[in-house]
Amino acid sequence: MRTRRAALAAIAASASLALTLSACGQNSEGGSEEKAGSAKGGTIGIAMPTKSSERWISDGKNVVKDLQAKGYKTKLVYGEDDPDQQVSQIENLITQGVKGLIIAAIDNKSLNNVLQQAADAKIPVISYDRLILGTKNVDYYASFDNEKVGRLQAGYIVDKLGLKSGKGPFNIELFAGSNDDNNTRYFFNGAMSVLQPYIDSKKLVVKSGQSKLTQATTLRWDGATAQKRMEDILTSKYTSGRVDAVLSPYDGISIGIISALRSDGYGTASKPLPVITGQDAELASVKSIIAGQQTQTVYKDLRKLAEVATNMVDDALNGKKPEINDTKSYDNGTKVVPAYLLQPVSVDKSNYQKVLIDGGYYTADQVK
Ligand code: BGC
Repeated sequence: MRTRRAALAAIAASASLALTLSACGQNSEGGSEEKAGSAKGGTIGIAMPTKSSERWISDGKNVVKDLQAKGYKTKLVYGEDDPDQQVSQIENLITQGVKGLIIAAIDNKSLNNVLQQAADAKIPVISYDRLILGTKNVDYYASFDNEKVGRLQAGYIVDKLGLKSGKGPFNIELFAGSNDDNNTRYFFNGAMSVLQPYIDSKKLVVKSGQSKLTQATTLRWDGATAQKRMEDILTSKYTSGRVDAVLSPYDGISIGIISALRSDGYGTASKPLPVITGQDAELASVKSIIAGQQTQTVYKDLRKLAEVATNMVDDALNGKKPEINDTKSYDNGTKVVPAYLLQPVSVDKSNYQKVLIDGGYYTADQVK
């Protein structure tokens, strides 16, 4: 019942966000002046993966705002986590004559054909946050240091459990993101580079036995899928003993895991919730952290990401070389894509005020 109510509330919230968004999408269609001799005044197509997660809604708004400030018109589309829908949306954008594309892929390998069409039409393509694989027709990559995201999550678990001072053994369960998102393996590998030594020395025990990436993935980052997996693990492997830590790659997954744990009686003085990580500093999770449920999240300043990506497309269209700071980490199978990687920041109850509120990402009222 609780889960159903929560799901309905989430649907209502995302419907109202979607309304706000379509209103701002309309504004974004018009308004800017044509400037002769450059791509300014032209339209940039923005393809985002889903409105079911707050972060991508912010990404859409931020990118539209920055492009408009640079004198572009924008067309913003959301693929609702359906790779085929995203491909046809991008095809439409190309047909409509966009001058540049900013794409956060749903399935990183499904865009080869449509990006050939973009290349034929000489449209620069910026891979936004998620690297597009298997095609040379992606010009630049704007993202965060994704491996560091995983290291921050795992490092937090190590610190909280006191593993460095020899405490343990503790039980840990591992969750990973969607297997069709290139970031997933960067997050997981980054985390495992920190956790593996403790697993090897048996200070950390994965009671489910599911410690490989392929066993831990969560299709489309879906919280309900993660909740079900956590429930199954609790029922089958924790008839005795309890979970001390959960590596969760994303806030929506953390919320699902917490629901499963609470249904199993976790969250009391005698059976406290484990250390649970996350990513994106989504509002629901920040509130959960303040309430003492989720323990940590990794904050990525999406305002900066939008700035980097929109500068890239603007420079590419105006014959300038975009600023990049990484030319080796992101090989997409056909080439190393020049990237600009921003720094993620670990956030918990002790520093959310300083980082998120004082940093202007949320207001104090929003997190109440
Ligand atoms: C992003 C994360 C996000 C996840 C789920 C990843 O590609 O890098 O920030 O949590 O997708 O949307």
